[in-house]
Amino acid sequence: MLKLIVCMKQVPKVSELPWDARTGTLKRELAAGMMNPACKHALEAALQLKHQWGGRITAVTMGPPAAREILHEAVAMGADGGVLLSDPRMAGADTDVTSFTLARAIEQTCPDFDLVLCGCYTTDSETAQVGPQLAQELDVPGVAYVEHLEIDGRTLCMRREADDFLETLEMDLPGLVTITTRRYTPRYVSMSGLQDAFGEVEIQTLDCDALGLDPVSVGMKASPTRIHKVYSAVAQKENVVLKGSPKKVVDALFERFGDRIGAALGKDLNPHEHAAVDGREDND
Ligand SMILES: Cc1cc2nc3c(=O)[nH]c(=O)nc-3n(C[C@H](O)[C@H](O)[C@H](O)COP(=O)(O)OP(=O)(O)OC[C@H]3O[C@@H](n4cnc5c(N)ncnc54)[C@H](O)[C@@H]3O)c2cc1C
Repeated sequence: MLKLIVCMKQVPKVSELPWDARTGTLKRELAAGMMNPACKHALEAALQLKHQWGGRITAVTMGPPAAREILHEAVAMGADGGVLLSDPRMAGADTDVTSFTLARAIEQTCPDFDLVLCGCYTTDSETAQVGPQLAQELDVPGVAYVEHLEIDGRTLCMRREADDFLETLEMDLPGLVTITTRRYTPRYVSMSGLQDAFGEVEIQTLDCDALGLDPVSVGMKASPTRIHKVYSAVAQKENVVLKGSPKKVVDALFERFGDRIGAALGKDLNPHEHAAVDGREDND
């Protein structure tokens, strides 16, 4: 019987979101929330492992009280219970402190877990750091960007995306994986799932006191990361017409963009190098 933990984050539903310019955080209370898409794929991977091997899936989230919704959704999809870490003192945590808090909650609620599954990244801040940092906090091996999982005894066999090739890896359990959105397409919620979600399912809510955490170790104050400014990037385009003989045009091109062409080619290009190399003079 596997003991599986799926960490999931509630993210805002729309991309046009109100920001708090002072703190650099999203005004999450003003946006409708949804389960982060990659977390759904992680849950689907856990559900398939449970289907094959049996076990119990606990969904864990840290967020405001409204984040409870995604735990009900997780139960509707097939999770067996949920843990909501919610406390105003936990708000504004960076990835480091998020991982710390999740780890302490997992140690308290399911210390003998076999596998923790996370999404590979979130749609609201997309750092992809929480999974690997959580593995470190829990002191277990971790593999990121996993797209296929199989269990062989106490060994987890995985396929993982790395740039444009795939790796196959093995890891001893207990461990942690982050799941890509490439496979494990999330299942639809069935009617009986909905009934479970709002039935007598166990969803625990834990605050700092219940976790035995000193409030100074959580939330924004404990977080070493500071977001100084958040703003929408404006694409600035300039049209440039290069005129003259082919040599003049190429010279002008290298003059303006030589450093970028060099960076793309992995060479340190001197803007006049190409002229010196071919030795031709400008004949116009
Ligand atoms: C615009 C913006 C930029 C930010 N930049 C940074 C930054 O550069 N560095 C930094 O430290 N923090 C940053 N933060 C804060 C960051 O959003 C939080 O630390 C957040 O709790 C986790 O980071 P993430 O969303 O990037 O998670 P990711 O690391 O992208 O999430 C990967 C997976 O970890 C799990 N997970 C993540 N958060 C939770 C949670 N709350 N509960 C349960 N599971 C979870 C999920 O499985 C998720 O799929 C930023 C926030 C914003 C709004």
